Amino acid sequence: MFDYSQLKIHSDCIEYNGIEAEKIIFCEGYQCQNSPYWKEVPMLPAKGEIMTIECPSMPEDFIVLSGMFIIPIGNKRFRCGATYEWKFSDELPSAGGKVKLIDLLNENIKVPYTIIEHTAGVRPTVKDRRPVIGAHPTSDRVLIFNGLGTKGVMLSPLFSLQMAEWLEGKTQLNPEVNVNRFLKMR
Ligand SMILES: Cc1cc2nc3c(=O)[nH]c(=O)nc-3n(C[C@H](O)[C@H](O)[C@H](O)COP(=O)(O)OP(=O)(O)OC[C@H]3O[C@@H](n4cnc5c(N)ncnc54)[C@H](O)[C@@H]3O)c2cc1C
Repeated sequence: MFDYSQLKIHSDCIEYNGIEAEKIIFCEGYQCQNSPYWKEVPMLPAKGEIMTIECPSMPEDFIVLSGMFIIPIGNKRFRCGATYEWKFSDELPSAGGKVKLIDLLNENIKVPYTIIEHTAGVRPTVKDRRPVIGAHPTSDRVLIFNGLGTKGVMLSPLFSLQMAEWLEGKTQLNPEVNVNRFLKMR
């Protein structure tokens, strides 16, 4: 785990456990709500559960999107999900989540399948459903890239490019994603 007490912010660099760098970018997902730098970002984390199934008789040349996704991942296996839960006490797969996924699966497919894996994660969703990018008000060496929420796979290529170009001084951050909408200069 990152030890915040070891982070030293100097005028010309940051230092962490003997590592010196120009800047540090925090990409902590929903756990930024426990960070001394980013706890004011209004996270509304959403736990989600998915399953991997094996289904030899199901075609593998299309994705099902009907109340759930069923995505072929090769070798007659399919990734299926996902559930949404806004109140949760752990990040673990649950019996209730499994029942929900099986019910959804049984509505969508009528052929036999075997459950191979059942996992859970937490989506770093933000109150206004926008990414959170930019610098901390106290130091432009301390940065955040977060808030990808339910769409991290889709959003991260666009916004990581925007962040890289912003860091190189080539562009401005879109105000809708700038962390300064939550953290103001003090
Ligand atoms: C069930 C489910 C289904 C999803 N489906 C889709 C989908 O179909 N399409 C889509 O686009 N997106 C989907 N997402 C969303 C996508 O997974 C997220 O948007 C994405 O993972 C966010 O990436 P991230 O790197 O910002 O955060 P995360 O993936 O949450 O990664 C943050 C990392 O930081 C680590 N960390 C946190 N604090 C510390 C610390 N103090 N020290 C060290 N490490 C720390 C965590 O352990 C974690 O590894 C889904 C998410 C879930 C849970």
